[in-house]
Amino acid sequence: MKTFDVAIAGGGLIGGAIALELALAGMRVGVFEKGEPGQEASWAGAGILSPAPENPSTIAMAPLGKASMALYADFVARVEEISDQNTGFRPKGTLQAIFSRDAARELSTAVALHHGWGLKAEALSADDARELEPALNPEVEAAVLRPEEASVDNRALTSAVLEAARKSGVKIFSDSEVKAIWRERERCVGLLLANEKVSAKWTVIAAGCFSANIAGAEAYAPVRPAKGQMVSLRTDQITIERVLWSDKIYLVPRNDGRILAGATVEYVGFDKNVTAGGLERILSPAIELAPDLARARVEETWAGLRPDSPDHLPILGPTDVDGLLMATGHFRSGILLAPITARLIREWIDDQHVSVDWERFSPLRFVQARKETSA
Ligand SMILES: Cc1cc2nc3c(=O)[nH]c(=O)nc-3n(C[C@H](O)[C@H](O)[C@H](O)COP(=O)(O)OP(=O)(O)OC[C@H]3O[C@@H](n4cnc5c(N)ncnc54)[C@H](O)[C@@H]3O)c2cc1C
Repeated sequence: MKTFDVAIAGGGLIGGAIALELALAGMRVGVFEKGEPGQEASWAGAGILSPAPENPSTIAMAPLGKASMALYADFVARVEEISDQNTGFRPKGTLQAIFSRDAARELSTAVALHHGWGLKAEALSADDARELEPALNPEVEAAVLRPEEASVDNRALTSAVLEAARKSGVKIFSDSEVKAIWRERERCVGLLLANEKVSAKWTVIAAGCFSANIAGAEAYAPVRPAKGQMVSLRTDQITIERVLWSDKIYLVPRNDGRILAGATVEYVGFDKNVTAGGLERILSPAIELAPDLARARVEETWAGLRPDSPDHLPILGPTDVDGLLMATGHFRSGILLAPITARLIREWIDDQHVSVDWERFSPLRFVQARKETSA
């Protein structure tokens, strides 16, 4: 029987980042992955690093996002050094374009909201915005520059994190589907695979949108897949420096010249098909934001499944089963939240104390809600 200090279900960026952090703290860690590591949401994402809430339901996440952003440069530097791989980190800020006729009011609201969340944001005139990003549509009326935001090549990052984890002593097992947590009375003592038991003092469920399929984890991680379609474009006609947003879409430049455009949010189960309607919803607003993209070559299209929770907030921390922790439900922000997730899980395992308040993200909130509904 395999025995570890910590057994992790799921070899995406979240499972990999936790494994690396724990291994660097001296723990023996095993990661169990049902397919090939790093090929699900962490591969499919856009890699935008933005702690700004996308809508009111995720405002509670802003402090966690800020804490993770503050760790990012060091996280990337450490991962690159250990793995000897590049992660495509671009700390160049992001720019939100405003097309509205009521641009002045929208601009001051957006800037005030960001300041209220404790995030830097600068109001730009249309001319200033186009000076920074000449590819922008001349019809843009104003823009918000968020200088502290960034992007990373999430495919490269995930691969580098997994390699850094391996080099730091983590054992990563492919084709090893976790069927259930291994529970003995009030304690979780490891994981159950199809024909094997894995013994561990601590068990972490980091299986992304599939976490609820692991028997014994479903009550704490009632996640569902939120499909996102993406398009990769290439053109010599324009250069984009920063992530560009409109209210419909984002464009993400990569160091190798690709421009990613995304993304849809669809609740259609575990389907990962790219659809004509999905591409239309991405490409029309992409061309509206940067018109010269009309002549860009479509290089790749894909879809991935974000792990969404009932309140759209992450699911982090201990459960009421001793030794069992959750690290899932990162929805649209798992690339951003990887460093802080790894840090908090390590702090809890080390001495049951965490440096950022994570009560709001407790896996017990769903168990409690179910008890109240059935009472
Ligand atoms: C189109 C799109 C755009 C996105 N853009 C951004 C962005 O710009 N910024 C951002 O921060 N986030 C973004 N995200 C979200 C981000 O990608 C996810 O939140 C993050 O990757 C989740 O990481 P994870 O490791 O939890 O999940 P995953 O990467 O899905 O990894 C989970 C792993 O667990 C494995 N697994 C599942 N079940 C089992 C089992 N029973 N046993 C063993 N292994 C199992 C899976 O095979 C998988 O490898 C985006 C996502 C998508 C799809």
